[in-house]
Amino acid sequence: KLEKEEDYMYLKRLELQGFKSFADRTILEFKPGITAVIGPNGSGKSNISDAIRWVLGEQSIKSLRGAKSEDIIFAGTENRKSLGFAEVSIVFDNEDSSLPIEYTEVTVTRKLYRTGETGYFINKVPCRLKDILELFMDTGIGRDGYSIIGQGKIDEILSNKSEDRRHIFEEAAGIVKYRVRREES
Ligand code: ATP
Repeated sequence: KLEKEEDYMYLKRLELQGFKSFADRTILEFKPGITAVIGPNGSGKSNISDAIRWVLGEQSIKSLRGAKSEDIIFAGTENRKSLGFAEVSIVFDNEDSSLPIEYTEVTVTRKLYRTGETGYFINKVPCRLKDILELFMDTGIGRDGYSIIGQGKIDEILSNKSEDRRHIFEEAAGIVKYRVRREES
């Protein structure tokens, strides 16, 4: 799937609002090529990759460096009140139909209110978490994909636990959907 450079899936944009340290609506535009994010310690660099995993359906709050779901919502600072919800949208170019959906641009959105109310959307249409996981299955991008290499991920790849390694190889081989369907049936 990733043989030619032009086959790489293009992440165009990330929009954050109320997510961790990003209280104000913040839009990150990614141009083709490599993007590096730099900044002082604690300025929110890792929060960006947390946001990408969260919007793609991450359920493990621990892996997002929190203790409970609402820890991802802006908690306030000395001179700014906390917020009632967090929303993240991620936009992929889909001109080449890398994603199995008939849109040339795909926006996935996840929203969480402090009350616990939550929602997922594909191109603004409400959907289930399952739809999002299926959309990115076998692309290497999703929650369980290998395109986000966070702390501990390398350990997982090198781990002695064959089950952990197998998940990564299955994703790369593009056969996760068959395993999931078998488990479902
Ligand atoms: P380093 O270079 O040290 O790895 P970083 O730039 O990756 O730092 P992050 O870990 O992304 O920084 O950001 C940490 C900051 O995010 C901390 O200042 C923390 O207070 C803030 N933060 C995390 N969760 C929330 C929240 N819910 N509300 C407000 N701020 C938050």
